[in-house]
Amino acid sequence: MINERYLRRLRVKPGMQVRLGDYHTGWAQNENLREAGKDSVKERALEILEENRAALASAQELLWASNTYAVLIILQGMDTAGKDGTIKHVMSGVNPQGCKVHSFKVPTDEELDHTFLWRYWRALPNRGEIGIFNRSYYEDVLVVKVHPDRLVNLPPGKRGKKFWNARYEDINAFERHLVENGTVILKFFLHISRAEQKRRLLDRLQDEEKFWKFSLSDLAERRLWDDYLHAYEDALSMTSTEMAPWHVIPADHKWVARTLIADIIATRIQSLDLAYPKVTGEAFEQMKEARRQLEGE
Ligand code: AMP
Ligand code: MG
Repeated sequence: MINERYLRRLRVKPGMQVRLGDYHTGWAQNENLREAGKDSVKERALEILEENRAALASAQELLWASNTYAVLIILQGMDTAGKDGTIKHVMSGVNPQGCKVHSFKVPTDEELDHTFLWRYWRALPNRGEIGIFNRSYYEDVLVVKVHPDRLVNLPPGKRGKKFWNARYEDINAFERHLVENGTVILKFFLHISRAEQKRRLLDRLQDEEKFWKFSLSDLAERRLWDDYLHAYEDALSMTSTEMAPWHVIPADHKWVARTLIADIIATRIQSLDLAYPKVTGEAFEQMKEARRQLEGE
């Protein structure tokens, strides 16, 4: 497991004004790591990732068996930040029966005819499940805030600071309701540098087999990098709460991001202190009787 003090620094304190420039995107977070050298840090990180993948698989079994909590994992980040790869690598040991992934795209006409939380509400994980939102209702205070023309079908006058503050409040209230009723929420912002995004986009354009991953709109959105950063800073500042904290994950190196995220999820589920349901009393006697009958066949 990773040092708790370090993990705490990734967590956005409620009420704090986030400045993303203060958060690292690379691997060498401090003197100790720099001295250890990249290769050895990476090797250790991959070991921790492997341990956590196994821990996550058993934690998820318990989650499923005890059927009390749901876990909602929210992944946000700029294009190419590594949301898809994180899901693939972090969740690879987990039983697919107990895990649901939803990737949210531009809303459909039907979705736009409802209030903004509607489509996410319907996709929430059941008790016992891990639900992953690859993008989420946060898009409605990110991409939509950067492009206010995408706010459609709303009554007139719905713009401006007051409008966005109301959306943050809606999100906090929504999450509070979920947490109060047994959903554990973990939110991750995959923080990449602009230079790393350029490398990743170019990588997609240099290999024909990766062309499908590239979308022309990625370039247009890249030009709005600073607008997105500000929208992220506002969203992280306004919606990191004790019950549903945001984590800013250094994501220029995929192994760093995956190791940290796997660790935070596994640790959080383990902290629920779940136990397999215990069969006792009459039901216990019935089990023994059933065994006798089967053995006697
Ligand atoms: P991708 O994740 O690359 O498949 O792209 C999905 C696209 O859908 C991104 O450009 C998002 O900004 C966009 N998107 C997701 N949710 C929303 C939303 N609520 N409103 C507008 N655009 C969205
Ligand atoms: Mg894309």
